[in-house]
Amino acid sequence: MNTAAAFADFRTYPLISALAGVQALTDRVMVKWADDRVSPFHHQWLRDNCPCPLCVYTVTREQVLEIVDVEEDLVAAETSVDAQGCLCVAWQDGHRSRFDPGWLRAHAYDDESRTERRASKPQSRLWHGDLPLPVFDYPALMNDNDALLQWLLAVRDIGLTQVRGVPTEPGSLKLIAQRISFIRESNFGVLFNVQSKADADSNAYTAFNLPLHSDLPTRELQPGLQFLHCLVNDAEGGESIFVDGFAIAEALRQEDPEAFQALCEIPVEFRNKDRHSDYRRLAPIIALDACGQVSEIRMANFLRGPFDASVEQMPKLYRAYRRFIAMTREPRFRLMQRLNPGELWCFDNRRTLHARNAFDPGTGARHFQGCYVDRDELLSRILVLQR
Ligand SMILES: [Zn+2]
Repeated sequence: MNTAAAFADFRTYPLISALAGVQALTDRVMVKWADDRVSPFHHQWLRDNCPCPLCVYTVTREQVLEIVDVEEDLVAAETSVDAQGCLCVAWQDGHRSRFDPGWLRAHAYDDESRTERRASKPQSRLWHGDLPLPVFDYPALMNDNDALLQWLLAVRDIGLTQVRGVPTEPGSLKLIAQRISFIRESNFGVLFNVQSKADADSNAYTAFNLPLHSDLPTRELQPGLQFLHCLVNDAEGGESIFVDGFAIAEALRQEDPEAFQALCEIPVEFRNKDRHSDYRRLAPIIALDACGQVSEIRMANFLRGPFDASVEQMPKLYRAYRRFIAMTREPRFRLMQRLNPGELWCFDNRRTLHARNAFDPGTGARHFQGCYVDRDELLSRILVLQR
């Protein structure tokens, strides 16, 4: 069916398998699919998800009904499959619901369907120093939504990409970042200029070597994506270095589980302060998601405050911290490349740590511009492009 207001969503749901039969039990409806899968749906769940215009506002496709507004023991008086293949439920209180079979299958919560859904979730593809760099072409990204989607999927799953053919006028970075969505402003500006300057408010604005780090670990939410665009690069040195923080964390989990655990559990404070601002965030270096997968790395040695852990934990924390930093220096993880004018890096700042070799400002000019975009914007853009 998939008519516009058939469900509380703007996506479409292909018919994977037709409804073959339906049977009402005391607290649930058993749906049998043409491919023999059986999915139970509790009465409460079905009533809660009724897509009718009384339960969902058709303009926003957001729910109006709150489940507490119907009886907790509400049961189906009658169930059937109609001529369009939809599941129809007549409730004991007189309300009627009708469910699109594509939508219903996509939300079924029998074990098999849930396992299938978990398996089809996007997975990070871990990489090492020998990663064949995913490279994209600026004009294609600006004009072609399919090319744009391929780039964004690489950013999501690999966390490191390069774009070539970018104009070298200052400010051009803004246009390509806005192909995704809003730029995240910070105290360093909408676009920040990476140049060495005498009154630097961060080590980033010197000619020093910068060790592997994420940007703004001093914030509750670290920026999701970071862009670094090369306008001029005549100075000797200054090569970009990247490591996959998720790959290092997974290797650490295998090779030194105690250190891995310490970095997941013991919070560390990161600080960024100047004359006008004072940002501080206390959080563990490795964050895990609800499934125990590594979801974030927070690291910048030059922004780290003194460790504040118990006397018993302090040696464990130092051991784990040293081990992690030592791993970021191992050649097996490191990808090094010099960025040329008209090229940019776009990477997952909460996953891919970046570094810069020292450069010699006496040998020529070096000017990069950077900006941030949050992960939410990336993921939303991907889902809309995939509709
Ligand atoms: Zn309804």
